[in-house]
Amino acid sequence: MTETLPQPPTGAAIQPDFTTLPRKVAPGARANLVGLTRERLRAALIEAGTPERQAGMREAQLWQWIYQRGVADFSAMTNLAKDYRALLATRFEIARPEIVTRQVSTDGTRKYLLRIAGGHEVEAVYIPEENRGTLCLSSQVGCTLSCSFCHTGTQMLVRNLTPGEIVGQIMVARDDLGEWPRPGQRPPERRLISNIVLMGMGEPLYNFDGVRDAMKIAMDNEGLSLSRRRITLSTSGVAPEIPRAGFEIGTLLAISLHATTDAVRSELVPINRKWPIAALLAACRAYPRLSNSERITFEYVMLRGVNDSDADAKRLVKLIAGIPAKINLIPFNPWPGAVHERSTWERIESFAEIVNRAGYASPVRTPRGADIMAACGQLKSATERGRRSRAEIAAEAGLPTVR
Ligand code: SAH
Ligand code: SF4
Repeated sequence: MTETLPQPPTGAAIQPDFTTLPRKVAPGARANLVGLTRERLRAALIEAGTPERQAGMREAQLWQWIYQRGVADFSAMTNLAKDYRALLATRFEIARPEIVTRQVSTDGTRKYLLRIAGGHEVEAVYIPEENRGTLCLSSQVGCTLSCSFCHTGTQMLVRNLTPGEIVGQIMVARDDLGEWPRPGQRPPERRLISNIVLMGMGEPLYNFDGVRDAMKIAMDNEGLSLSRRRITLSTSGVAPEIPRAGFEIGTLLAISLHATTDAVRSELVPINRKWPIAALLAACRAYPRLSNSERITFEYVMLRGVNDSDADAKRLVKLIAGIPAKINLIPFNPWPGAVHERSTWERIESFAEIVNRAGYASPVRTPRGADIMAACGQLKSATERGRRSRAEIAAEAGLPTVR
């Protein structure tokens, strides 16, 4: 059963679903089925010659093979007729991003460098913890924004990831962790990948449709079946898209706040010049389903001498008063060439104490995988932006060019 989400207020714009159209592929090339919504998958099957009256059943069968079993080869789909499997194999593929390198940290964190269409590279990070395992996904190659403390921000945006490339990161990690159930087995209760955070490379709300379609697939109960409440989308503050994200995607929300005055925030997170703190917090208050069990996480990177005073801590709790929230303090993770320094532990403790006394849980995020540059804000791939037109970028990602 898919959970029903509250509907957006009347008048809210619903974007047409362009990103999930079946790939326009060159003659002879095979289209990737990973990342197509159920509707698009069915349409692709009909277009390939599946009789319409069978299409619903075939779609359900393929969906289960691809997302419940992790099967990448049509010949293993034993409940489909041999001829039909052969037909599918001539028209389609079930492709994930390719693992270029996999690094394992001393603390067990795994960082994957993945190659996608066009030869570009993105990173995904798996963080095992005692009671859960979190996969940190990228939504873009590079980022259009340039937050002063973030390594990804030094890499220009190359392109948005397609839904298949986002969902493909989950599938690659499951392949690597050996997490697909064997035939006849039910998926285990305790998942190696139990949580997803959209906190890797890129700004998820600048790839709204791609992230939405990928998360729909991730949450589908007949497929990857990850729980909506265990997925967190982190945004630097694209205010107008925040309530819409709640209505159309429905995951939990994290906000990269990082400062308590517009003067400082505009220096750290330049998008603040467009949507200052007041506009951002107004959008947060409009996020649907806000409650004690669905709180917003405010992320706050601790930068020595920049945003870490007691006065900042006091302003912070005043700013978010009335919003069901938790505050996640992130000690700054350094990278080559960074201008900032991490706050001292005494400062972080003093800051956390003020926030705690105001009634907010304020866990300090332990840096994970820092020895392999896998911690928050350390991701960056070598992909450089070439001079290319929008049409070329869309064609490379297998997307239609009309927008
Ligand atoms: N673009 C989104 C999501 C990716 S960043 C966003 O900005 O929210 C995930 C989190 O890591 C954000 O809160 C980001 O501000 C933080 N971060 C970035 N660089 C960091 C660094 N060097 N040290 C610690 N946290 C960092
Ligand atoms: Fe982009 Fe987020 Fe890094 Fe800012 S912090 S540059 S929005 S990835």
